[in-house]
Amino acid sequence: MEFLDVPTVLKVSALFNLMAALAWLTLAQAFRIAPRAGRLMAAGHLVRIVSQGCGDCTAGWPALLRQALPEFGLLACAVLLLLALRRMLRSRLRLRHIAWVSGIGAFAIAAGLASGSGLAPQLASALSVTLLSALAVREVVRGIGGRLSPIITACTTLPFAALVALSLAHTAELLLVPGWDDHILSGELPTPARAVLWFVVTAGITLSLIALMIWRLITRIQHLTYRDPLTGAMNRRAFEQALIGAQAQLQRGHGFALAMIDIDHFKRINDEHGHQAGDAALQHCVRIWQAGLREVDRLGRIGGEEFCALLPLGAPADLSTAATVAERLRSSLAAQPLRWKDTELALSASFGVALPVTSDAAGEIGLARADAELYRAKAEGRNRVCVAADLTGMAGA
Ligand code: GH3
Ligand code: MG
Ligand code: MG
Repeated sequence: MEFLDVPTVLKVSALFNLMAALAWLTLAQAFRIAPRAGRLMAAGHLVRIVSQGCGDCTAGWPALLRQALPEFGLLACAVLLLLALRRMLRSRLRLRHIAWVSGIGAFAIAAGLASGSGLAPQLASALSVTLLSALAVREVVRGIGGRLSPIITACTTLPFAALVALSLAHTAELLLVPGWDDHILSGELPTPARAVLWFVVTAGITLSLIALMIWRLITRIQHLTYRDPLTGAMNRRAFEQALIGAQAQLQRGHGFALAMIDIDHFKRINDEHGHQAGDAALQHCVRIWQAGLREVDRLGRIGGEEFCALLPLGAPADLSTAATVAERLRSSLAAQPLRWKDTELALSASFGVALPVTSDAAGEIGLARADAELYRAKAEGRNRVCVAADLTGMAGA
């Protein structure tokens, strides 16, 4: 690496950080994309420019300032990065945990500086950055692990893991190599390999965060495309697609049932308590039903106050399982009235459960059968589950 000119690497790194800061700020301010995380990342990149040093440009500065700047700067970068990640991934990492680690780190750096030690402030900063970057690794794995492929998760996590390794190596150097701490004090430039390594890790972390931001945007667009905005249930289009997929699986022997659901006397709620109460009732119903459904089940809003649940079955014709799930949804709604202003609004729904037909690619016959059962449930007095085929209607209220 001797052919590399270190001041040039540092200048390239400073320029990269400046452009990255501007890019994050533009995304945050002009496009409102990940605004809080973007502002934190912009601040992190700007602090990095100041903290990475430039060799002789700080030669005339007081020694204490020259010593303090890289240590506090690196710590601040790690904190800002972790805060940005926390926002980007909407993680549950507590702010007070970050505050504790960074607070103790900052205190140790300050105490080391005050004692006139060359080693202590660098050691305190290296250890704090190691800890904060290890937290960053944990957050990334927690945030995307299991939701993206293992290879993408590994690639996204790698730069943060490299930061942990780099900070650990720096800690070991400080402890094991005598006089290493004097390098920074004397204003000596880092070795070319070290300068390039830090630059590559900084660029890698920036790329990872951009990947996380894009993933978040895609997730949000998918949510807007496939979810009903009022209730969060699948919208009709998404449900129809899920049904087509389930019909294809049915050909391979994986059975499912359909439960058509219609809220009883819903118009009355709108008429007597207003449209807002109606909206709140729809949200209330979906919240209760989502809680009562299994992980494998799908709930879609077909229209107005009509929903449909797609219930995968262990055995292709296991209607009794589907009837049990529907009955659970019916009884849990009947047992939990909606609190609206000062009153409680009793809610109920009718259910029609049926099996699909194998040759029906779009699942329309299954939907029509479930709908017919729903009409029967309405005709028989509402707040009940009616099941097609040989299973008789399960009385509700
Ligand atoms: P039934 O027991 O026979 O199903 O009677 P119902 O009153 O529930 O059925 P009806 O089809 O007569 O009324 C459905 C009402 O749902 C009419 C419509 O104004 C209302 N509705 C549809 N979508 C929404 C919505 O998004 N919000 C609100 N608040 N009301 C809605
Ligand atoms: Mg209704
Ligand atoms: Mg209706």
